Amino acid sequence: MRNRLPRFSYAEACSVEDALALLNEVGPGAKPLAGGTDLLVAMRMKGAKPDTLINLKTIPGLDSIEARADGLHIGALTTMQAVAECPEVARGYTCLAQAAGVVGSWQVRNRATIGGNLCNGAPSAETAPPLLVLGAHAVVAEPGGARRTVDLERFFHGPGVTECSAGKLLLEIVVPKPADDMRTIYIKHSPRKAMDIAVVGVAAGLAMQEGGRVREARLALGAVAPTPVRAREAEAYLAGRVLTPESAREAGKLAARSARPISDVRASAEYRLEMIEVLVARALMALAAPERGGQQCAG
Ligand SMILES: Cc1cc2nc3c(=O)[nH]c(=O)nc-3n(C[C@H](O)[C@H](O)[C@H](O)COP(=O)(O)OP(=O)(O)OC[C@H]3O[C@@H](n4cnc5c(N)ncnc54)[C@H](O)[C@@H]3O)c2cc1C
Repeated sequence: MRNRLPRFSYAEACSVEDALALLNEVGPGAKPLAGGTDLLVAMRMKGAKPDTLINLKTIPGLDSIEARADGLHIGALTTMQAVAECPEVARGYTCLAQAAGVVGSWQVRNRATIGGNLCNGAPSAETAPPLLVLGAHAVVAEPGGARRTVDLERFFHGPGVTECSAGKLLLEIVVPKPADDMRTIYIKHSPRKAMDIAVVGVAAGLAMQEGGRVREARLALGAVAPTPVRAREAEAYLAGRVLTPESAREAGKLAARSARPISDVRASAEYRLEMIEVLVARALMALAAPERGGQQCAG
């Protein structure tokens, strides 16, 4: 019968060390299982055949959100719904709350984890652009048990390949507290408003100074390159410049130069490039004039 899960062994890890030992024992055929909303679909529909699934959800303590002196610590097993609903995230890390809140559907968000979203390595991973804009770090457990902190910009190696692909575990994401005057937004562009992945995802952060000049701009894009990317040329262009519809549009054009989109069933590469220009400009203008739509998160 089509779409049946292939046979696999199953183990429940009781600690991070236990999970690392199981991953090491089974070798490349083992896969960590979090919410399963990517992995089980890949097994059912895309021919993935891991020998053994190691359930991480049985490890206590990896699903909390804590505000500490160095920023927000988000456990890898925190669900998208918990991220979207957390008042601390909504207050200080708006673009992340918005992105988590537009993943899939209510049911998907209650299973899908933020760690699974990043470790799956999809270029369209919804939480990646906001976390790049916010300058997040990933805390990774190495096969021997050592912990390492990786700048999220270096976490994504290519489609489906991340820093955690071979026997490593993502434990938490640390998000530094943004400056008090930094406002952020995430815009997802997809043909459907629910149960659809992004054709283009744009996260933006903007801090202004007197006279309508930009003090700092941060931009990141999803679904338009082999990995989520920062748009640094556009950020540099905006710094110190008066933000107008024209300069926002020019920033959009420069942001598109950071992209390397493909054409696929969802959209052509040309359409994606055009949408980057439109959405970057829209995000910047919304941040500059929040009363005209600063809370908007769908393109
Ligand atoms: C109907 C539907 C709609 C969806 N809509 C969206 C959407 O709008 N936007 C979006 O971005 N995604 C979407 N997704 C994809 C998916 O829900 C997310 O990517 C989700 O966050 C994956 O998390 P998970 O916990 O389910 O990961 P899993 O499926 O459990 O794991 C995904 C991958 O990451 C690895 N992994 C998981 N956790 C860890 C860890 N802590 N350390 C190391 N490796 C780990 C697994 O081995 C696997 O390779 C959708 C999926 C479905 C089925």
